[in-house]
Amino acid sequence: MFMRSITNKLSMIGLCLTSTVFSCSDPSEYSRVNTQAENKGYYLSDSLWRAADISVCWEDITSISDNDRFRIQQAIVDSWEAYSPLKFTGWEQCSETARGLRIAVKDAGPHVKKLGRCLDGMQEGIVLNTEFFEWNPRCRETQEQRELCVKAVAVHEFGHAIGIAHEQNRLDTPDTCRDAPQGTNGDVMVGDWDPHSVMNYCNDVFANDGILSPGDIATVQAAYDFLIDPNTVLSVTPPPQPEHTPDVQTCEMGRYVGECTMRECRGASFPGRCEDSAQKCCVMLR
Ligand SMILES: [Zn+2]
Repeated sequence: MFMRSITNKLSMIGLCLTSTVFSCSDPSEYSRVNTQAENKGYYLSDSLWRAADISVCWEDITSISDNDRFRIQQAIVDSWEAYSPLKFTGWEQCSETARGLRIAVKDAGPHVKKLGRCLDGMQEGIVLNTEFFEWNPRCRETQEQRELCVKAVAVHEFGHAIGIAHEQNRLDTPDTCRDAPQGTNGDVMVGDWDPHSVMNYCNDVFANDGILSPGDIATVQAAYDFLIDPNTVLSVTPPPQPEHTPDVQTCEMGRYVGECTMRECRGASFPGRCEDSAQKCCVMLR
């Protein structure tokens, strides 16, 4: 039996990038990306790691339980690592000068400070959440849900950490997706706009439960094609996907009746399903 999907009752807000321009290297790259600000995309080619081995460490290994630590590591092994040539190694306490991805665990909005290799050696380059008292407390409703949130958040942020931007930043994002572009844009789009991407705020399942969609798999394999050993065959068979609810739902609460799409329920400050934010959804569409 599949674990219950969290769906969009959880806020995607905060699964974010803290910068809006690509600026980890020289000024020419900065200006190049800046002048192409309309060229929204998917992965950012300049930010891809140059070698397959990426070391990972914890800024404070005592700030996370062993179970959550292994849960996160396994989620990354089962997702980005399973479908790409990338290998995430280490997963121990960071030394002061550790390179690679340095993860801090805080009860705050999870985020990365840059895309891809720009995070190399950056202190607290990735911030993950395992508690959810302050951010997305709905993740605490059940233990199962909390664990699903831990996994989904980690897979989403590691997507950024290997250079993938938000799906809703793409130029071909349909009008029905009303989540604003957020963070650094990519510059290469792979395939069609993917409503089920772990990187898409408009996914009706929160970060797709941390399960790569077929589109995510195509993207990571296109991005890191240059690192794929010609003698190995990477799987393209997607893992079992979470259940996706129909886009349009009927909502009814008091005098407010109408239909809304999942996406329309998710305002900037009012995430939720129709039944959670019925007044807002129904008022909008009645
Ligand atoms: Zn994000």
